[in-house]
Amino acid sequence: MRTLLYVRKGTLDWAEAPDIGVTVGTDAIVRPIAVARCDLDDAFLRHDLGRPLRLAHAAGIVDRRLLGDLGRRPFTGPFPFGHECVAEVLEVGGEVRSVRRGDVVVVPFQVSCGGCRACSRGLTASCTTDRRTPVSMYGLGAATGGWGGTMTDRLRVPHADHMLLPIPPDVEPVTLASAADNIPDGWRAVAGPLRRWPSAPVLVLGGRAKSVGLYAAASAVALGAGSVDYLDTDPERLEIARRLGARPVERAASWRRMPARRGDYPVVVDANGERGALAYATRSLAPGGICTSVAIYFTAGTRVPMWELYVRQGTVATGLANARAELPAVLAAVATGSLRPELVTGVLADWEDAPRAMLAPATKVVVTRARLTEPSR
Ligand SMILES: [Zn+2]
Ligand SMILES: [Zn+2]
Repeated sequence: MRTLLYVRKGTLDWAEAPDIGVTVGTDAIVRPIAVARCDLDDAFLRHDLGRPLRLAHAAGIVDRRLLGDLGRRPFTGPFPFGHECVAEVLEVGGEVRSVRRGDVVVVPFQVSCGGCRACSRGLTASCTTDRRTPVSMYGLGAATGGWGGTMTDRLRVPHADHMLLPIPPDVEPVTLASAADNIPDGWRAVAGPLRRWPSAPVLVLGGRAKSVGLYAAASAVALGAGSVDYLDTDPERLEIARRLGARPVERAASWRRMPARRGDYPVVVDANGERGALAYATRSLAPGGICTSVAIYFTAGTRVPMWELYVRQGTVATGLANARAELPAVLAAVATGSLRPELVTGVLADWEDAPRAMLAPATKVVVTRARLTEPSR
């Protein structure tokens, strides 16, 4: 079978890999037919992160635990690329009941079992079954468990009955190509807070988590937020935000030069990740408000404005998204048409063009190919 490898910054290469099959009765083998580039993929496709992170670790600039959690050589190729996909089911083990050959399914990017204590609490990102590494997911090589990448002909999915969600009828696979990770990541940043504050105005700080911030804005619109203000410096993302039904607000390049905003928003999302964004997000909170940071802060000693939070009775939440746990609600919103993730996709390319297309500067890149199987039902 053929697999796409991440080699280094700017270089993806096809390679032959040994065929894989069902190893236990609860497995499925799937063939990805729509793969999206995650915001994290985009970061290591554009920058060599591995060596700078190791040097920064040695110098104490990044968090001391980073290399323990992501392996000694994080983001260092070659490794099988891709962790977001919609796939067709090729084979299932003897114990799999909920899917069969020919089904088209979303494959959550994190491997989870559905039955352990963490999973039963909805913390599927922290599933303890089959856990080989602190962070367990497809598409980053041995550092995150060696589960393979989604740019491949055959991908093994353990716990298939729990993991695989058939896509809704009348929804195209390409629409849900990012549903494995970035879409539920944006959804969770607003869904919980809007349950606490129904119809509240929402503020999204767009930036490094390029598509996740936009999916958060789209989710807030779908979930009936009173208003959705989307702050960014990037013209393309501001335009996408407008199409999604949010109010685009162009901001100054430096957070320090942004006028202080106080107390307007019960729900704030930090998808920016730059120095100063968290402080701005916190200042923007209404009393009792919740800021969810979906940006990833690698640096040691990131400042959190605790006094501001104390006075405003605010909460800053962060953490890996529990993609599998969020997915049923996400798929339901896409099925009704209230959530339209396809509006975020800027480049849609053929599977064979992936090595080039995945490097496009667009916010979201998706590659597709025709299915091999007949629909099962
Ligand atoms: Zn991702
Ligand atoms: Zn589990």
